[in-house]
Amino acid sequence: MQGKKAFAFVDYSICNPRQCNAEEGICWSVKACTHKVIKQIDGAFEPPVVFQDLCMGCWDCIEACPLSAVQMREIL
Ligand code: SF4
Ligand code: SF4
Repeated sequence: MQGKKAFAFVDYSICNPRQCNAEEGICWSVKACTHKVIKQIDGAFEPPVVFQDLCMGCWDCIEACPLSAVQMREIL
């Protein structure tokens, strides 16, 4: 919708890379983002960060997270 922007955000009360990927600690949502705007800037086994200004709101990261820790938010 014109004037609205959707972007992904991580609910850090839910996100747990040790649970969703116990072997590698790599976030599935990071792997899924073809725009490369969600990153584990502190490395494996640490929660990811979304660069919200650059997020395209495409939902790929949301569908990829097995714990539903990534959600979509809209701003006017
Ligand atoms: S956002 Fe989801 S897939 Fe990514 S580390 Fe957190 S729980 Fe795992
Ligand atoms: S909504 Fe799309 S562009 Fe934004 S972080 Fe998720 S996968 Fe990347």
